[in-house]
Amino acid sequence: MSIKEILLLGNPLLRRTSERVRNLRDTEIQRTIEDLRDTLENFRAENRFGGGISAPQIGVLSRIIFTNIDKPMVLINPEIIRISKQVTTLWDDCFSFPDLVIKVKRHAKVSVSYSDELGKRQVLFAVGKFSELLQHEIDHLNGILAVDKAIDSKHIIYRSELEKISKLSHESIILERNAVNDKK
Ligand SMILES: [Zn+2]
Repeated sequence: MSIKEILLLGNPLLRRTSERVRNLRDTEIQRTIEDLRDTLENFRAENRFGGGISAPQIGVLSRIIFTNIDKPMVLINPEIIRISKQVTTLWDDCFSFPDLVIKVKRHAKVSVSYSDELGKRQVLFAVGKFSELLQHEIDHLNGILAVDKAIDSKHIIYRSELEKISKLSHESIILERNAVNDKK
């Protein structure tokens, strides 16, 4: 079990483009997959949000993402191969700036091709929160962060402020999209 430190906004590694994985059996790649799994689960337990993590966020510039929406899943060399014209606007968040929320636009639906843990090429179709998450994580592999996608600069705010606004307006908001169920 290896929980890695998550790189924070400002770390130059988050701005680099990650390299394609060529050999899945490489021990470094296998270790990275394990580290992503452990680090994601730890972050979810500590912060009560988080549906996915990308390798560059733990300082490894390989095209690997690990998600856990309904079940844990590793996607190697993921590529968006189809997008819907329909877009949705949502408050997005990120492990690399956990105190901030950012209003972004994402495609409502995407198709993604990727290699699974056994190296088999797969295609999946995603809607809703899984679609948004995949777009967010694949952006990480290209050095793109949610702050770059803010609909404008007024929509980069503290999570605690958003919680106040939402209480005032009785709006039910977002962030639950990645919320981890309270097991208590
Ligand atoms: Zn992120």
